Amino acid sequence: MVTAAAPMHLVMFGRPGSGKSSLAEHLGAEFGYQLIRTGEMLREAVRRGDFLGARVENHLARGDLVPDELIFELLEINLKSPQKARLLFDGFPRTLGQVELLDRFEKKLGFAIDCFVDVVVTREDSVARMTGRRVCPTCGATYHLLAKPPRLPETCDIDGSHLEKRKDDTMEVVSFRQKIYEEQTQPVINHYLAVSPEICRSVDGGQSVDAVYAETCRVLGVRR
Ligand code: AMP
Repeated sequence: MVTAAAPMHLVMFGRPGSGKSSLAEHLGAEFGYQLIRTGEMLREAVRRGDFLGARVENHLARGDLVPDELIFELLEINLKSPQKARLLFDGFPRTLGQVELLDRFEKKLGFAIDCFVDVVVTREDSVARMTGRRVCPTCGATYHLLAKPPRLPETCDIDGSHLEKRKDDTMEVVSFRQKIYEEQTQPVINHYLAVSPEICRSVDGGQSVDAVYAETCRVLGVRR
């Protein structure tokens, strides 16, 4: 059940490997959030091999951010009637330029973000987690070999696909993505803390999966 105070339009931040995508999936399933996951949309475009996929493939492989103009194109296609749905943005906005994009979408499409959640983990923890991460190539569900293992080894609980390690979860790319996060995404959080502190929340992502989820529900004001 969702209380009256539950946010309609939510943004989740966190280092790569903070566990925010698993949290987003869990919240989506339990409270009916539609997930807007730019990383998953981009990987899907690469899998389809379409025009957008061809332009973003190298950025994803390097662990670099995709240019803001392409993120704009992606959201123009995928963000339909956001004012009607309970939305959760996972992985957007990631740069100060994308903060402006989000402002523009909010005005144009008539919705407003009412909560920003930062899932805080140390760089060391997040690197350790990324190396154990596995994803489903079919539905995008994420697992972790130790923290959130699938029921059957290397097999997606949802659709039975064989799980894969992401190409950008190699040690070299993982370190680079941490640097990009600190340089380009951390300023986004600082921006919202400065302009909208009343809707910013933070969660200690260093706890067990269940404890992080419980704390997230508490800061969102949702009852389970
Ligand atoms: P994620 O699945 O959120 O960890 O994203 C995987 C990769 O997709 C990132 O390393 C970037 O290359 C790209 N990406 C995802 N979201 C964005 C975004 N909002 N802006 C730029 N690049 C993004």
